[in-house]
Amino acid sequence: MTVGDHRTSQGMATLQQIQQAKRMAVLRSIGRWTRCFAVKLVTIASSLGRIQLHRMLPPLNRYAIGKYDENRVGMYDSDLFDNLDNTIDGYGGRRTVHLGIDLSAPVGTPVHAFASGVVHSVGYNPDHGDYGYVIVIEHHLQLLSSSHNNNNNNNNNNQNTTTTRRVWALYGHLDKSTVQRKESSRPGLPIRKGQVIGRLGDIYENGGWLAPHVHFQLSTKPPDQPHDMPGASSVEDRPTALLQYPDPRYVLGPLY
Ligand SMILES: [Zn+2]
Repeated sequence: MTVGDHRTSQGMATLQQIQQAKRMAVLRSIGRWTRCFAVKLVTIASSLGRIQLHRMLPPLNRYAIGKYDENRVGMYDSDLFDNLDNTIDGYGGRRTVHLGIDLSAPVGTPVHAFASGVVHSVGYNPDHGDYGYVIVIEHHLQLLSSSHNNNNNNNNNNQNTTTTRRVWALYGHLDKSTVQRKESSRPGLPIRKGQVIGRLGDIYENGGWLAPHVHFQLSTKPPDQPHDMPGASSVEDRPTALLQYPDPRYVLGPLY
């Protein structure tokens, strides 16, 4: 696992590369079937002790993490990040500070909801450098807090109370299946913890990003517009943005 190596996990594709990717997608679907067939053959041979499986099938892609609160100067070269008229949730200007965490994995890797919740919005943001297929889920988190109680008998007690906190999580750069799933493609549908809500998209469906990855971002407020959040803020807006879009490691754990 590589942390913060956004040169390969985050670069935007050229239009020629996107067209090439569409052609390659057809070939890859054939390749997947062939590979699947090959895996079955090799697995059988391996079980017979004739072939070492791991030597025959090197990994197709690499896994990497793109960090939260990373100032990505020089990476966001699309107009999307440099257009003062293109304000999202009130954030505009030259936006370079990453407000989510990116998890890179092979195309087609399933993406699961980190907690139960309700679909807020789902759709397609097709601009070059945007999210492609994206879903926003309103999650209800149970937070345990400890309060100090000094009763009449002078006994000090610590009492645990549970409060519910609402957060909105955006899962971006997914594939077309995100908007086709009957169980999660409409606002208001309930989502179970661990439910598959989409898969990592290729560059012709993920907003034109070279390497497949999910952009995961939390928000303490509902998005102003459907299936969108500013994935990056300007350096000037950073203090406000980090409060509205907290570190995803609060729910994902200490990934790095
Ligand atoms: Zn990202």
